[in-house]
Amino acid sequence: MKPSEVAEEVNAERLVRRLGELGEVGRDGAGRTRLALTPQDKEGRDLIVGWLREAGAQVKVDRIGNIYGCLPGRNDGPPIMLGSHIDTVVRAGAYDGCYGVIAGIEVLHCLSATGSRQQRSVAVAAFTNEEGVRFTPDLLGSRVMAKNIALEEALDIHSSDGNVVREELERIGYLGDLSPWELLPAVFLELHIEQGPVLDASGIGIGIVEAVQGHSWWRVVIDGMANHAGTTPMDLRQDAGVAAMQIAIKLHNSAAKAGIPRVATIGSITVEPNAINVVPGKALLTVDFRDPDEEKLREAERLLEISLRKAREAGFRASAECISRSSPVRFDPALCSLLEQTAAHLGLSARRMLSGASHDAQMLAGICPTAMIFVPSRLGISHNSREHTEPAALAQGAQLLLETTRQLAVVGESNGITGIRAERV
Ligand SMILES: [Zn+2]
Repeated sequence: MKPSEVAEEVNAERLVRRLGELGEVGRDGAGRTRLALTPQDKEGRDLIVGWLREAGAQVKVDRIGNIYGCLPGRNDGPPIMLGSHIDTVVRAGAYDGCYGVIAGIEVLHCLSATGSRQQRSVAVAAFTNEEGVRFTPDLLGSRVMAKNIALEEALDIHSSDGNVVREELERIGYLGDLSPWELLPAVFLELHIEQGPVLDASGIGIGIVEAVQGHSWWRVVIDGMANHAGTTPMDLRQDAGVAAMQIAIKLHNSAAKAGIPRVATIGSITVEPNAINVVPGKALLTVDFRDPDEEKLREAERLLEISLRKAREAGFRASAECISRSSPVRFDPALCSLLEQTAAHLGLSARRMLSGASHDAQMLAGICPTAMIFVPSRLGISHNSREHTEPAALAQGAQLLLETTRQLAVVGESNGITGIRAERV
C-alpha cells in the first residue's frame, strides 16, 4: 500500500467545536438528552444536515430517517460509507456516536477541498435510534438497512412514551422518501470512542476493532403472591422480589466466574406493589448478556432458562421475553489490516481489540466489508456526562478515518477490500 499523495489534515479545531455545539443540543444538567426522534434529536439532525451541505455533500434522508451526505465520485458504484449516530442516552456525554458522524463530515470537507473528484463516492450516514432508549430495538436505522428488521415493522414500533416511529419521523420532518437500500455501501467504517478503559489504560491512541461482542437482552416477569408482611410466615410466602433477586445474583455470579470478556447485567428490577409492608407479588427485571462467542452467549441464555425453570418449580409463574439480540460479529480482516497499515503510516500507536458495546457497524458488517476505529475514553467512562476524549486523540482518529477513506476512495480499488463479505462468527 502506498500512502495517498494528497496529505491534507482534518480541521481539529472545527471537529472539536462542532462536537461542543452538537453537545449543547438537548442540554440536561451536565449532560445532554437527545432521545431518538424527539424535538432535541430534530435540532441535532438539522445541525448535521447544515454541516453536510457546508462540506459540499448532497443530503438525502431515507424512509427510516437515516441521514446521508454524499460526495459523488467519478465512478457511480456504491459508496465508501462512514458514519454512526447522533441520538443519545439520558444525560449523555458529547462524543458517543456524534464523533463518528462529525469526523465523517471532516473527511468530506477534506475530500471536497482537493477540488478534484475522488474515484469512488463517499457518504456519511447518521443512523436513526442507535441507542434504543426510546424505541426498542436499538440500532434501528442500520437494522433496517441490513434487513435485520422489516421497514414496515420498524415504522410501527411504539415508544415507551406511547408514540410511533412513523409519526415521530413525520413530526420532526425526517420521514424521507429514499429507499433504505438505495445507498448500500461498498465498505463501511465507523469511528467511535471506545466507551471502555482499554486504550486509556494502555496509553495507545487507536483501537482497530476486529469484532463486536454479541448481546442478548431479556425482560423477565416473575409472578408470586402479594401478601401481608406481618402475618405471612416465611415458609408460606411466594415472594416474587426474592425470586428475582436470586436470579439476578445467579446470573451475575456465573458471568463473574466465566471471567473476561463475559458480562451479565441486571440493570432494572421493579417489584409490585413496591410497598414496605407487602410481600412483592410481582417482579420485573431486565437481563443484558454480552459475549464475543456465539456459543457462550447461548450458554448464558440457557442459564437464564434454567433459573426460570427453577423459579417455576418453586411455584412462581416465570417468563422471559427476548427484547433485543445480536450475534457476535467479526469485522473484515482485509479492512482491519488496511487500518493497521494506515495507522502505522501516520505514526499512530494502535492495537487490535474487541468492542464491548453495540454499534451500527455490526449491522453493516452483514452487508459489506466493515470495520471500526476506536479512540480512548478517559477512564473508560461513557453513557455519562463525564465522557471525555482529548482533542488530540479525536483529531488522530479522524485523521486515520480520512487517510483510510482516501486509500479506499481516491487511490483506487487495488487494495482487495471491495466485494469481501464480513465473516459472521
Ligand atoms: Zn454509539
